[in-house]
Amino acid sequence: MEWQLRREMVSIAKRIDERRLVAASDGNISVRIGGGHQRTGRILITPSGVALGSLRPQDIVMIDHDGRVLSGDLKKSSEFRLHLMVYEVRKDVRAVIHAHPPIANAFTFAGVPLDSCIVPEVVATLGCIPTTEYGTPATDEGAIVARDVIADHDAIMLQRHGSVTVGDSLTSAYHKLEKLEHTAEVLLAAYQLGGPRKLSQDEILKLAKLREDLGIGSGDDVLRACRTDRK
Ligand SMILES: [Zn+2]
Repeated sequence: MEWQLRREMVSIAKRIDERRLVAASDGNISVRIGGGHQRTGRILITPSGVALGSLRPQDIVMIDHDGRVLSGDLKKSSEFRLHLMVYEVRKDVRAVIHAHPPIANAFTFAGVPLDSCIVPEVVATLGCIPTTEYGTPATDEGAIVARDVIADHDAIMLQRHGSVTVGDSLTSAYHKLEKLEHTAEVLLAAYQLGGPRKLSQDEILKLAKLREDLGIGSGDDVLRACRTDRK
């Protein structure tokens, strides 16, 4: 089980690198082993200073929910606080990916929101992609600014930093990362073509219902985000 997860982390890390969703040794991945019990749970996390593209299963570090290293020769990711915070807030989450998707990042640098109710399938699946307040990366502050936002979203942007996507598996968290960056690419193209046109309130209501019917998440989240967007 543990080695299978390590191999899965390596394979996802390679995909993140190949898609250029990180640069150099940026980005980190973690997976929770066993249940969500704070005392007994263990977490596999990528090491600091190793490029995701050249990650090997034996490089991955095992930590507990207090961030203590249980096994591994390398240093744990400097973003371990962010990962621990997510597992504390979201008992349903088994995998966390932090990346630096360039186009989605550019939106946060420009102060352009990504949570616009424009792309129907994203509204129905991810709900919206909110951006946190700014917090210094790799510090407690960087984790705290994301706390309330990740509580009810599976894909978020950390202002001027990068993405956090979560799921009940590594593949699910990775697919949300791909979706997030793809949404940003499409929106960027739409802005270049004169600006995206928003969905009507009626269509947003239908997507909110679809989201609930499919058991993906709360429709209120979508309605709230779209109302904010319409200010
Ligand atoms: Zn980062």
